[in-house]
Amino acid sequence: MESSVTKLKVYDVIVLGAGASGLMCSATVAYNDKKTVLVLDHAPKAAAKIRISGGGKCNFTNVEVSPTNFICQNPHFVKSALSRYPSSAFVELVERHSLAYEVREGGKYFCAERASDLIQILRTECDWAGVEFSLKTTIQSVQYRGGKYSVKTSQGEYEALKLVVATGALSFPKLKATGIGYDIAKQFGLNLIETTPGLVPLNFSDKWQARFSELSGLSMKVCAQVADHDFTEAMLFTHKGLSGPAILQVSNYWKQGERLTLNPLPDFSEQQALEALLALKLSGKSLPKWLNERWPKRFTQIWLEVYPMEAVLSNVSNERLQHYAKQLTHWVLFPANTAGYDKAEVTLGGVDTDEVSSKTFESKQQPNLFFIGEVLDVTGQLGGFNFQWAWASGMACGLAL
Ligand SMILES: Cc1cc2nc3c(=O)[nH]c(=O)nc-3n(C[C@H](O)[C@H](O)[C@H](O)COP(=O)(O)OP(=O)(O)OC[C@H]3O[C@@H](n4cnc5c(N)ncnc54)[C@H](O)[C@@H]3O)c2cc1C
Repeated sequence: MESSVTKLKVYDVIVLGAGASGLMCSATVAYNDKKTVLVLDHAPKAAAKIRISGGGKCNFTNVEVSPTNFICQNPHFVKSALSRYPSSAFVELVERHSLAYEVREGGKYFCAERASDLIQILRTECDWAGVEFSLKTTIQSVQYRGGKYSVKTSQGEYEALKLVVATGALSFPKLKATGIGYDIAKQFGLNLIETTPGLVPLNFSDKWQARFSELSGLSMKVCAQVADHDFTEAMLFTHKGLSGPAILQVSNYWKQGERLTLNPLPDFSEQQALEALLALKLSGKSLPKWLNERWPKRFTQIWLEVYPMEAVLSNVSNERLQHYAKQLTHWVLFPANTAGYDKAEVTLGGVDTDEVSSKTFESKQQPNLFFIGEVLDVTGQLGGFNFQWAWASGMACGLAL
């Protein structure tokens, strides 16, 4: 139901944001308690991020979801909502609507056809529950007076007894992401954790860009490591730096100025690489040929220009081979920066989770004000975890409203 109400009607609940968490929360509260719910969003259609995610097929959850898949200053915060709404519950929901889906490597659930099918399910749930929508409606300001929230928008003013902030975070501004949720949090005195782009490509420094940008488009399996976090997955060269799942995953843990260590031979430890080189030395086979059996040829060629190594190892000392083995398994880079919010799938940081209840998502200091989804300082790894957080936090809040 679209609405263009301009006169003041007091809703039980206004949900700011028709994204993943906002839709889940709205359907839950309206369905369970028959409360009047209005969802406001400035986008012309609901859930733009679901629509384009996962290459248009939306990686909507994961078989195995654990608190360790999330980054949050308080690692215990996510436990309650995730345990009350496991991924199997969301899969049950989509199965009830006969969504065709597939489970890919790493337990990742994707729509078999279109992500828009998933949006349709959430919109249907909202319609059945009688949720009202006002899209193309920019939220301008929020006020709390006389025990009610008043929301000023481009389409007029709306009032509600309870307000849910589900406006997401800063990533992908071209999909209408804004920081309004942070502004509302600040206005009501909630603390914010500094935000940075997450699940984001990393840019080379000039030196490496000049050398490796010609590999743009090339993908290879690596083990990418930052501090004590490592991920063995595909890495993609871009014209500015590195992307692909391994880099996006590790970017969540990378901070400006820190090193990124890549093992381009992820099936080999340094010791195993040394053993392989010693065997090559004995057999007299060529090192570039051995590398070409494991790497794309273009990468081998540039690698050996940057890190010259003898082609035949017969006369290379074992000490030198040790050095080769280290170089081949520890490619140390200092990325210049990330590709920023324009290219980041998520935003690290946000509303401090110490400020809200992990059971109801209500602010501890401001009555009837709730924060769910990505606006909170909760960030999932790649693999459907961010949507699972949106579903779980939306559901927990919806049940509490
Ligand atoms: C390119 C991309 C791909 C992704 N792929 C995946 C994936 O495959 N799997 C996964 O788990 N996660 C993925 N994510 C992350 C996931 O999309 C988010 O974590 C999730 O959408 C967050 O849900 P949310 O409800 O908190 O916010 P959102 O879904 O971002 O919803 C926020 C809503 O608030 C609205 N809004 C914001 N400001 C205003 C304002 N001032 N006035 C009115 N409305 C406003 C927005 O229009 C939006 O509809 C991806 C993200 C991106 C950018």
